[in-house]
Amino acid sequence: MVTPVMPTYARAELVFERGEGAYLYSADGEAYLDFASGIAVTALGHAHPHLVKALSDQAGKLWHTSNLFRIDGQERLAARLVANTFADTVFFGNSGAEAVECALKMARKYHDETGNPDRYRVIAFEGSFHGRTLATLAAAGQEKNLAGFGPAMDGFDHVPTEDLDALKSAITDETAAIIIEPVQGEGGIRPVSESFLRAIRDLADEHGLLVIYDEIQCGMGRTGKLFAYEWSGQAPDIMAVAKGIGGGFPMGACLATERAAVGMTAGSHGSTFGGNPLAMAVGNAMLDVQLEDGFFDRVVAVSNHLRQQLAMIADKFGDVVEEVRGTGLMLGLKCKVPNGDMIAALRDQNMLAVGAGDNVVRLLPPLIIDESHVGDAIGKLESACATLSSESASS
Ligand SMILES: *Cc1c(COP(=O)(O)O)cnc(C)c1O
Repeated sequence: MVTPVMPTYARAELVFERGEGAYLYSADGEAYLDFASGIAVTALGHAHPHLVKALSDQAGKLWHTSNLFRIDGQERLAARLVANTFADTVFFGNSGAEAVECALKMARKYHDETGNPDRYRVIAFEGSFHGRTLATLAAAGQEKNLAGFGPAMDGFDHVPTEDLDALKSAITDETAAIIIEPVQGEGGIRPVSESFLRAIRDLADEHGLLVIYDEIQCGMGRTGKLFAYEWSGQAPDIMAVAKGIGGGFPMGACLATERAAVGMTAGSHGSTFGGNPLAMAVGNAMLDVQLEDGFFDRVVAVSNHLRQQLAMIADKFGDVVEEVRGTGLMLGLKCKVPNGDMIAALRDQNMLAVGAGDNVVRLLPPLIIDESHVGDAIGKLESACATLSSESASS
């Protein structure tokens, strides 16, 4: 018999009751070091006092009015995102998939408005992930996620990342845009090279295409800058953001230049809950913290330290860990044992991590960790690797 909760997830047998900073506490009081962050969502850890206060203050005042009215928090957060990015304008939704959906609609609308309604196709990259709606599944083109859900929505072409020739030959008169994650998350923590991002930008400009970045996972401070694209200096025309932006409160945003958003006029797109006062209070509080002087410097410093320590683990347990990859606090351990075994072994050590494609274990700690958390993580990783290493030796 089906469970009351639709069984679409393979869940670990763990229930958490509360969280504080980088730790989650199970119902029986055990502490777990949280290097999963609810899949790169709880960017400031659990129960961050500034976020808790922002949400509870707002909860006592006003929850929802709909977008039939102006919303102060939206205007403030949009202005701050605009001031700190390439973008001129922001649409607020409730999730990553909706942010990508808005980006895809906007790309089609842009070409329709500018006299090229036949340009509707979007080029995407193998190994990418853009969400679970019909359009975002078709965008990513992953067979395993599309299987059984009928004909995939038309309008997407797929090429391997870092393959410039394949990208060039995929561009046709019908191409509207190119969508890419600057650092692939679900695909296995694979940063895209600066030169490839530059090539995408140049090709797009040459052919009149829009560049869409999906920074849902790699954005909001995860790489040590507010957005990952800042490292390359290659700005997109449209960018999807979610996950960390609400620190655990559901929200997403689609950022765009004025030019790309030319067709997004009143009535063209909408969302009942998008940008509601609760989400906006948290989103503004998240930016308060991330935009404080020194926040990103600390992320970079602690991530360098973590990476060094992980390299030592990889050296010591070469039969378990093949490679450390990623950037900032978006790191991956490419494993020689099944990544699920590594995640289970870490869980036995009271540490949480997330799987990814390409047999990778993702380490996505909250951005507020310090050296003591790194020390705790490395101790737990060492113990986990030791069990896996001796197991593989004895088998
Ligand atoms: C998680 C994720 C999404 C989908 O976000 P949802 O909030 O689950 O809809 C899209 N793109 C990337 C890169 C993601 O990591």
